[in-house]
Amino acid sequence: MSKVKDEIFIVNRDYSLEFRLLKFFIVVEECWAIFNVIMSIIFRLPKANIYMYVVVAIFFPLFFVVLHYAPDKNLMLTIYSIIYFISNPFVWYFAGGNKASANVLFICEIIVFAMCLSGKRQKIFIVLSVLSSSAVSAISAMPFFHELVFTSRQQSAASRNLGLSSSLMIVALLIKQKMEYARERDIAINSEKELEQSNKLQKNFLANMSHEIRSPLGIVLGFNGLIMESDDVNQIHEFSHNIDNAGKTLQTVINDILDYSKIESGKLDIIDADYSFKELISEVKNDIGLKCDEKGLKFNVRVSEDIPDNLYGDNIRIKQCMLNVLSNAVKYTDQGSVTLRVNSEKVANDDTIKITMSVIDTGHGIPKETLPNIFDAFQRLDEGHNRGIEGTGLGLAITKNLLDEMNGTINVQSEYGKGSIFTICINQKISGNKASVITGTAENISLMGLKVLAVDDTKLNLSLIQKLLIKEKIDVTTLDNGADCIEECKKNKYDVILLDHMMPEMDGVETFNRLRNDDDNLNKSTPVIMLTANAMVGAQKDYMDLGFDAYVSKPISIENLRDSINAVIANK
Ligand code: ADP
Repeated sequence: MSKVKDEIFIVNRDYSLEFRLLKFFIVVEECWAIFNVIMSIIFRLPKANIYMYVVVAIFFPLFFVVLHYAPDKNLMLTIYSIIYFISNPFVWYFAGGNKASANVLFICEIIVFAMCLSGKRQKIFIVLSVLSSSAVSAISAMPFFHELVFTSRQQSAASRNLGLSSSLMIVALLIKQKMEYARERDIAINSEKELEQSNKLQKNFLANMSHEIRSPLGIVLGFNGLIMESDDVNQIHEFSHNIDNAGKTLQTVINDILDYSKIESGKLDIIDADYSFKELISEVKNDIGLKCDEKGLKFNVRVSEDIPDNLYGDNIRIKQCMLNVLSNAVKYTDQGSVTLRVNSEKVANDDTIKITMSVIDTGHGIPKETLPNIFDAFQRLDEGHNRGIEGTGLGLAITKNLLDEMNGTINVQSEYGKGSIFTICINQKISGNKASVITGTAENISLMGLKVLAVDDTKLNLSLIQKLLIKEKIDVTTLDNGADCIEECKKNKYDVILLDHMMPEMDGVETFNRLRNDDDNLNKSTPVIMLTANAMVGAQKDYMDLGFDAYVSKPISIENLRDSINAVIANK
């Protein structure tokens, strides 16, 4: 329910139950006052009586507005109680006092204090109310006390009107309290259910995650053990291929968790740039084509010819969405085919196109009753049927969130046992520029003969970096601490320096600052790339803000390393 509607029906849960009841009571009291104005006129009651109800009828709307805008609602409860307490004896007098059975007004007062106040304040006002009603009774019995002049006909009319309107007012307040109580109880029951569901999901997630991480890790360690004992080159090749696959699976799981944590903390970045749509489709085709081949599935790709090639948007995230949906299609299909259909249409009077991508599979399908939950995080549906299929239950949640961020949509249609159709729609601008490089980093430059200094305290990392760079014919020097790096940079000039962050004694950031500030080194302006396992939210921006020329997160892939070295050399 919208906030405005909540305000109108006085159910806004931002306010305490007592405050909501008071607000409602003021509305009911206004009706009570208007009713009595009308009845007093109809039954020609004394003028003083009519004027009193008119004053009350004017007061409530004004007080309601003040109450609504007052910053301290709690204080307003006290102010209202004081006003009520002070004015009630006067209202009692002008309503007809003892003659018109106006004592009902004190009964109302006590009930209202009991319902709209709480704690000490409630007790104090109830006691005050009892005292004031007793004082009024005592004073009215004194011989000097003069009551308002009512004829007996006016007296019985006033008493009837007051009795009827006051009891209706209390009934309304009781009904409202009951409704609010029922609503609060429903909310509490639902939150309990949600909490139980979220606990269950969390437990499943942890169990599942431990499986998702342990199983590829087991493959890596197991096959590595076999490699260490084997002399057969063919076998070693086959085993290392398995390790490669398991490593990539592990990387996907960790990337999903990182992406999900970014979504949860609202720090998911969408970075738009010029890109080639054909390249994007070709990368997706290669990746999914291989997966389909491995499972013996037919992969059909139908991309409309009229989609412009040069587009502007976040191609990396779009690719991630497409790969998530297509990988699922392969994962949950045992036989038949996976089809990718891509069409576009022009968005009226704009240089924007709407791209529609449909992924159609002939797989397990999704039970109808579970479809509404399919984009929720940690949901793994139809687990009985999909047992043994790896997954974290995060892929579609991430895809949905990414598309929401890019103002796109994702829908699903499915027939259980027959297959599913996932449809992604997203608007992209047509770009005037041709994307120079797909990764959007830099032009490819030959890296042969480049002098690179790599600094990392983990020997295995250094060895890996060295081997990867030597394959690119780069001249690599390795060091395992920041202090040696500073000394080395005084003696030799390098084209690029790769620095690890977490190193004992002098970490990567301190080493970098020394390199940039020490006058007696030859590498003051040499590009420095931060090479780190810190892949947390905002890490890249933090390192770039510190002045690093580029950032590469571990695990290191030669493609990323090559792209970054290319980029910093090109920008030099
Ligand atoms: P997972 O890592 O489990 O694949 P996703 O978020 O990608 O996580 O998918 C959530 C659930 O949706 C899956 O566990 C699966 O039950 C169901 N699902 C997704 N895509 C398909 C599909 N193409 N066919 C059948 N079921 C699917």
